[in-house]
Amino acid sequence: MPTTLLAQVIPDPVRRICQTLHDAGFEGWVVGGRVRDCIMASLASSHRLEAGGDWDIATNARPAQVQRLFRKVIPTGIEHGTVTVLIDKEGYEVTTFRAEAEYHDGRRPGAVAFLDDITADLARRDFTVNAIAYDPLADRLVDSFGGVDDIRAQRLRAVGTAAERFAEDGLRVLRAARFVATLEFDLDDQTAAAIEPSLDSYRKVSSERIRDEWLKCMKAQNPSRGFEVMRVHGMLAITAPELLESVGCEQNRYHTYDVWGHAMACMDACPPSPVLRVAGLLHDVGKPRSRAFSDKTEDYTFYNHEAIGADMARPMLERLKFSNAERDRVVGLVRHHLICYSDEWSDAAVRRWLRRVTPELAEDLYALGRADAVGKGSDPQPEFDNLRRLQARVEQLLAEGAAVSIRDLAINGRDLISTVGLQPGPIMGEILRELLEEVTDSPERNTREVLLERARELANAARQ
Ligand code: ATP
Ligand code: MG
Repeated sequence: MPTTLLAQVIPDPVRRICQTLHDAGFEGWVVGGRVRDCIMASLASSHRLEAGGDWDIATNARPAQVQRLFRKVIPTGIEHGTVTVLIDKEGYEVTTFRAEAEYHDGRRPGAVAFLDDITADLARRDFTVNAIAYDPLADRLVDSFGGVDDIRAQRLRAVGTAAERFAEDGLRVLRAARFVATLEFDLDDQTAAAIEPSLDSYRKVSSERIRDEWLKCMKAQNPSRGFEVMRVHGMLAITAPELLESVGCEQNRYHTYDVWGHAMACMDACPPSPVLRVAGLLHDVGKPRSRAFSDKTEDYTFYNHEAIGADMARPMLERLKFSNAERDRVVGLVRHHLICYSDEWSDAAVRRWLRRVTPELAEDLYALGRADAVGKGSDPQPEFDNLRRLQARVEQLLAEGAAVSIRDLAINGRDLISTVGLQPGPIMGEILRELLEEVTDSPERNTREVLLERARELANAARQ
């Protein structure tokens, strides 16, 4: 009986909301992703039920009636029938059964019609596994579209006629790709076949919503499952055509996969931090444009691909409306992902590397470097060891107080004005950068006296 777990895990406030609705003569159903996840967890012992996530409730009560029944409510999306009920400071979305009759633009429902029947409400949902309702008072499921069977078969199938459902709302094809990854389901054949004819609707989806789906996909064990769906069925050609250049782009002899396959394996091997995984996805995007054949080594080279890749990644991330901080982090990771550390590096070389990448990015670079090694398809252990040795040296040098940015110098801009007699201007930055360069080579010179003396010399030289 797939409801046992649901009965156990439904939070008390959710049950109370359904009870209040019931006592007032209405229905209250638990719906959406949580129902799906609980049934999955009870059918497959391998599927863990993650904590968190929202509990959605569907009711035949109209929004105004819901508002009257509860003490604290927020009219979050009243025009679409959603009221948030607050219990113990937690919010629970209560949504009136509805149909989304017309999608004028393939993006947002035009008019919302309220309904009286749970099955009609389930019919407007995207996939059968998301269209199961549970009544916690009667411990009863309504599964009008065969969602439980599809969960058993690990199959993602559209509710109703897939082509129509995808044409109504262009985001659904991307949600399909995301659920293939996060649920580890396969696309039903007819549902898959309906994606390509619906891509005109997908083209209208806003970049923000695409970015959010990408980030949700990154939470899967293997996000590559979702990105393969996007590649095979045409979403990627619309959203990130640059990535398709990697498909079939053969690598040098140290790699098992083409550039695309390597990006997929690297992304999957990254720790499950969504933004880091975006870096895994994009880290070699510059390879196809930099590939050349070397007669000397009789193999391909990818000279400067990390800089070319960083220049390609920036506009891609801007197009997808990533925040400036996320964009800079990913571009920095793409730019610096090629570490090539060896034990012959002098301390000054390690400090210079750290100064270039910044200590903030270093941790992410080790993680990306490990994932990159896994993605080559051969034994990653030597590279793991190599990165660990670099990390140990970095930690040691930082503990010794290595100066890796202008902030770490023993003097600052104010000293240059008050003691050296400089006027504020670009020369100050130039002098501080030169001092940092010198201190990187000779850390013992990072004292106030030495740096002031040296700053005077540099200032004099600049005045002449
Ligand atoms: P998650 O685990 O990511 O929260 P979810 O299935 O709960 O997945 P939500 O975006 O929270 O997804 O939406 C809740 C429910 O609303 C879905 O289960 C589905 O029934 C319905 N739904 C959401 N988005 C759409 C859509 N674009 N088209 C049709 N139904 C949708
Ligand atoms: Mg949800």
